Amino acid sequence: MTARTTALAPSLTPAHLRFLEQLFPGDGLVTQPEEMAVYGADSSRRSAMPWAVVRPRTEEQIVELLRWAEAEKMPLVPRLRGTGMSGGAVPAFGGVVVSTLWLNRVLDIDGDDFCAEVEPGVVTAEFQALTQKQKLFYPPDPASLKISTLGGNVSTCAGGMRAVKYGVTRDYVLGVRAVLPGGRICDAGGRTHKNVVGLDLTRLFVGSCGTLGIFTKLTLKLLPLPESSATVLAAFPTLVAALEGARGVFRAGILPTAMEFMDHVACRGIGMIKDVPWPEGTKAVLLLKVDGSASALAEEVIRLERALNQASPTCLLKGLGPKEEEPLWEIRRLISPASFQLGPDKMGEDVAVPRSKTVEAVEGFQAIGAENGIHVACYGHLGDGNIHVNIIFDAADEDQRARAKLCKEAVFRHALALGGTISGEHGTGITKGAYVSWQLSATERELMAGIKQVFDPSGILNPGKGWV
Ligand SMILES: Cc1cc2nc3c(=O)[nH]c(=O)nc-3n(C[C@H](O)[C@H](O)[C@H](O)COP(=O)(O)OP(=O)(O)OC[C@H]3O[C@@H](n4cnc5c(N)ncnc54)[C@H](O)[C@@H]3O)c2cc1C
Repeated sequence: MTARTTALAPSLTPAHLRFLEQLFPGDGLVTQPEEMAVYGADSSRRSAMPWAVVRPRTEEQIVELLRWAEAEKMPLVPRLRGTGMSGGAVPAFGGVVVSTLWLNRVLDIDGDDFCAEVEPGVVTAEFQALTQKQKLFYPPDPASLKISTLGGNVSTCAGGMRAVKYGVTRDYVLGVRAVLPGGRICDAGGRTHKNVVGLDLTRLFVGSCGTLGIFTKLTLKLLPLPESSATVLAAFPTLVAALEGARGVFRAGILPTAMEFMDHVACRGIGMIKDVPWPEGTKAVLLLKVDGSASALAEEVIRLERALNQASPTCLLKGLGPKEEEPLWEIRRLISPASFQLGPDKMGEDVAVPRSKTVEAVEGFQAIGAENGIHVACYGHLGDGNIHVNIIFDAADEDQRARAKLCKEAVFRHALALGGTISGEHGTGITKGAYVSWQLSATERELMAGIKQVFDPSGILNPGKGWV
C-alpha cells in the first residue's frame, strides 16, 4: 500500500495562507520557522518543518478547516504533546500541523455512569488526579502520563504498566467524536458500557494515529479507585530464574497490576547512575505491583513473596502504600535515561510476544546484540509480553549505525517468528512504516486501505504514516 501524496497540494499558496489567517486569527496561526520547528518533532527524534501550524480553540474551526482541506487537497497532521515514539505527529510528508492542545476541558466526571467526557488536549495525569478526588479510577498509565494527553493516548492506543490487570487505552474508550475530511462529524459510541449496534467505529478510531479523523471529544470508562497497593522488587542470578519467578506468580493465581522486568544490561545502566539494592552479578530484576482492598492486600503480598521465593531470588524488597513504593518505581523510571550511559543514541523498539515466549524472546534479543557487538537492553512490561528492546549505539559511527539497523531488523524478525508483533504500544508511524508488511498480510493491508478510503477519500489526514 502506498501513501497517496501525489494528488495532494504540494505547498501552501498565498491564498491558502489568507484562508488560515481568517479562520485562526491572532496566535491561532503560527508561520514563523523558529516557532513552528517545535511542532515538527516528536519523541521519535524525527523532525520536519510544517508548512504552517494551526491551533483551533473550537470544534467549529476544525470543521471549517477539514471542509477547506478536503477541497484544497491539503495534507493535515494532527498533533498534541508530541511525546509519540514513532513519528506519528511529524509532518514528514509536508502539510499543516493541527494542534488540538487548546481543546483541553474536562467536561464531565460521573460516578453514577462511571464515565467521563473530555477534550483531547487534557493531560492524562491531570485527568487521573481529578478522577481520584471522586474515588474513581482511569487505569491506562503510559510512562509519559504526566506529559502526554488523553487524545494522544487514544490516537496511539497507549499501553502502560497496569495493562497486565487493567488492559490498555482501547479498553477504556466508550465513545469518540471526530471531525472527518469534508467537515463531517462522526459521534461514535457514547456513555453506555455496552453497545453492539453496527460496526464498532469507536474502536476503529482508537490507535488510528490521526489518519481517520480529528478527535474533538472522548468518552472514557472509569472504575472504582482501588483502596491500596503494594510493590515487590525481586533480583535473580539468571534470566531464566527471573522469568520462572514471573511464571510462578501467574501459576499461583495472582494477577498483578504491573509486572515489569529489567535485564542485566538495563540493570548495569541503572547501576552507573544510582546506588542499586540488588547484589553484584544480578542478571534480571522483577518489579511487581498489586492493588485491592486494604484487608485483602496484606495476604496478597504474602502469596506474591511465596511465589517469587520458589525461584530463589537473591534480594526481595517490598513497599506497602505509595510512599514506600515510590523509591522502587523510581528505579524503573531511570532505565531510559540510564541507557545513555552505554551509548549516545538508541533505537527504542517495543515488540510484544505471547507470554509463554518471553524467555525465548529475551534470550534471542540478547544474542542479536552480542552477535552484532551492540548493547541491547531488554526491559518493560513482562506481564503482557511487551518487551522494550533498546538498541544502544553511536550514530556518528557509520559502522555502528549499520549494525544497529541490522539488530533492529533481526529483533523484528525474531519477535514475528515467535508469533509476536513489531509494536505493542508505540505504533508504526514513520519509524516502523517500512516493516508493516513484514507483519500484516496483503489482505489485511487491502482492507485497511479500503477503510482509510471511506473515511478520508483524498488521503489528506496524516499521509504516509504507519499502515497508510
Ligand atoms: C518518556 C516517555 C514514555 C512513554 N511511555 C509510553 C508507555 O508507557 N506506553 C505507551 O503506549 N506510550 C508511551 N510513550 C509514547 C507516547 O507518550 C504516547 O504515544 C502518547 O499517547 C502520545 O501522546 P501525545 O499527547 O504526546 O500525542 P502526539 O505524540 O502529539 O500524537 C500522537 C498521535 O496522535 C495523533 N493525534 C494528535 N492529536 C489528535 C487528534 N485531536 N485527533 C486524532 N489524532 C490525533 C497524532 O497525529 C499522532 O499520530 C512514551 C513517550 C515518552 C516520551
